[in-house]
Amino acid sequence: MIRNVVIVGGGTAGWMTASYLKAAFADRVDVTLIESAQVSRIGVGEATFSTLRHFFDYLGLDEADWLPRCAGGYKLGIRFENWNRPGEHFYHPFERLRMVDGFSLADWWLALGDRSRPFDEACFLTRALCEAKRSPRMRDGSLFTTGLDGRLGRSTLDEQRAQFPYAYHFDADEVARYLAGYAKARGVRHVVDNVAHVARDERGWIGHVVTDEHGTVAGDLFVDCTGFRGLLINQTLGTPFESFQDVLPNNRAVAVRVPREDATEMSPYTTATAMSAGWMWTIPLFRRNGNGYVYSDEFISPEEAEKELRAAVAPGRDDVPANHIRMRIGRNRESWVHNCVAIGLSSAFVEPLESTGIFFIQHGIEQLVRYFPDERWDPVQIAAYNDRVGRAVDGVKEFLVLHYRAAQREDTPYWKEAKRRRLTDGLAERLELAGSRLLDEETIYPYYHGFESYSWNAMNLGLGHVPTSPAPALRHLDPARAHAEFARLRAEGEALVAALPSCYEYLAGLND
Ligand SMILES: Cc1cc2nc3c(=O)[nH]c(=O)nc-3n(C[C@H](O)[C@H](O)[C@H](O)COP(=O)(O)OP(=O)(O)OC[C@H]3O[C@@H](n4cnc5c(N)ncnc54)[C@H](O)[C@@H]3O)c2cc1C
Repeated sequence: MIRNVVIVGGGTAGWMTASYLKAAFADRVDVTLIESAQVSRIGVGEATFSTLRHFFDYLGLDEADWLPRCAGGYKLGIRFENWNRPGEHFYHPFERLRMVDGFSLADWWLALGDRSRPFDEACFLTRALCEAKRSPRMRDGSLFTTGLDGRLGRSTLDEQRAQFPYAYHFDADEVARYLAGYAKARGVRHVVDNVAHVARDERGWIGHVVTDEHGTVAGDLFVDCTGFRGLLINQTLGTPFESFQDVLPNNRAVAVRVPREDATEMSPYTTATAMSAGWMWTIPLFRRNGNGYVYSDEFISPEEAEKELRAAVAPGRDDVPANHIRMRIGRNRESWVHNCVAIGLSSAFVEPLESTGIFFIQHGIEQLVRYFPDERWDPVQIAAYNDRVGRAVDGVKEFLVLHYRAAQREDTPYWKEAKRRRLTDGLAERLELAGSRLLDEETIYPYYHGFESYSWNAMNLGLGHVPTSPAPALRHLDPARAHAEFARLRAEGEALVAALPSCYEYLAGLND
């Protein structure tokens, strides 16, 4: 039996893993987490993905309790600003497209040809809620969409059937602290010490780690959560890291935290604003905004990037410190090697444009539970884990490359180059197809990667990559039901905007 799990690293990845393993296996597995006081956490990672509610449900945690303790807010989608032309924006929501007579509302929007309302406004509820800065919950705490509320119990990504309408914004350090409390209360042994050496046994597997002050710590299974340094998986086991920089060249970020003490307004979305050599995130937490500029240092220096960021979000606030971060973009060829599994930044990272870092952690942990080893360390099971984890990352990589390729902006060397960048073979084919008709579940990246066809279409249409011959059959179908559905969606949006409290008001109630 594999009983003794050692996690090295106490960032979001380490504490999510420790908590989840305890929620899954309770005392049938012993977990030790070693965290260095000298090496700080990455200090960013504040926007998430709609699947994260499954993680908290699995742990049995109530949003009304943990969210206010982590300075949290709601995220109904991402607002993309200036990706086509200055002053323009559109949303990528957490919302599936409605269907009429077997065709999505996006097909109908294209076929009917009425462009008086942009695609995202005509086809999704989310835009109306975002523009009005509404909370996704009514004053009594109920969710604005029916049938999805309530805790699911021990639900996993595999059980995600309906699209949950929101994700969270939060202070990642507070989440790590909160989960540390949860994990320690369930028996996780916490060692605050630096791992100075990782010892391999006669097979070349990891035998134990040596800490500065607590001696050696042995284990059966080691989880590498040491962030970009990949202390166990890369530095010790020598697993190759495959860079994605040929297709996703952003390799640095600079982040600031801008206080918003007096504000009584809060946006229920992440904003991704195109900048001269990359893009900037704006993530509203309860009392401050997280902002960061993700860029390629081939096109702008760190000093110039910081200047551009400060001018955009913190003019005159030289007291706000900037955090400069080098990003390792890509993934390990294999994230599970021998008795070592890498989770978090040590496993893979694509840039944070669709907030998938914590989603990869959640997915990696769930797969680890699913393929949890026994003393045979079955290579077939390990290969299955590696395939699933690798494919999820590769799918997101492709989806992000699409963002740059489809964007209309071409006003700086960075954006000009984005149009010329090499495409993965799969994406080249998909973009060609999307030039003629909308994509569906059969024509997007074929393995689980968190995104559905509505996301691919929302980005393509939002970025102006519009099909030339969308569903000719629609010319022969009576459009009355589609017109009625567009009108119903609009009326629902207006009614919800009137009924829902503002995002700030609702969260202020939770924070009381
Ligand atoms: C610029 C940027 C923006 C991001 N934005 C988002 C976002 O919006 N949404 C999202 O989902 N994700 C985002 N991410 C990803 C997210 O931040 C990470 O996935 C998440 O924070 C997990 O990090 P981690 O725990 O793997 O690593 P880290 O936070 O780096 O933690 C590493 C841990 O390892 C420990 N450690 C290291 N060496 C040793 C040693 N020798 N001995 C003992 N302990 C050691 C450290 O003390 C620390 O506790 C972003 C990442 C970057 C770089």
